[in-house]
Amino acid sequence: MVFLSDRDDTPLPDWYLDDGSPWEKINSYVLQLRETNSRYPIWRAIEEFPLSKDFIDGIVEEGWRVIYEPDFFFLGGITHPPQKNIILKAELKPYQRDRTLFHELAHLRHPLLLSYQTANDQKQKCEREVIVEWLGRKARADPGLLRHAVLSFGLDAYIYDKSSYQAFQGIKGQQCFSFMREEYKDILMD
Ligand SMILES: [Zn+2]
Repeated sequence: MVFLSDRDDTPLPDWYLDDGSPWEKINSYVLQLRETNSRYPIWRAIEEFPLSKDFIDGIVEEGWRVIYEPDFFFLGGITHPPQKNIILKAELKPYQRDRTLFHELAHLRHPLLLSYQTANDQKQKCEREVIVEWLGRKARADPGLLRHAVLSFGLDAYIYDKSSYQAFQGIKGQQCFSFMREEYKDILMD
């Protein structure tokens, strides 16, 4: 099987954790990267080709789907272009699942500029992986996008923070009480 491998042997910054790196570190890493490497074409591509509802509609129309894999050998998820599958580890908790889904969507949004296959070296692979995670976390925090992605792929909706509360309040199967507004007052980014 040909996998568009996610991460394989890419050396990542030592603060980069597989089960959730601090958003502050990711954000400052990417902002600094953008400042010192302003010529990278990805910065413009991010503006021109955002991870949008239209993009999600497009890949769903192309046949992309999300499947769960129990005891998955990868840490969180990968994309499998030949079968148009986004494969997510079945054991992921709700926030991890959504964060991982959006990480994979960010890879799909910029298949060349953020791929490993076209990277010049390990350093560039590493930079790309952090940019992908940065893009994915920001997109997941947008309630409209979160709702659109989860519902478009036919996934169960979960409420665990402010964004997901705003995305899914009133959705069938998600009971919302007034205390929840207080409980989910923060946006998870880490
Ligand atoms: Zn990745």
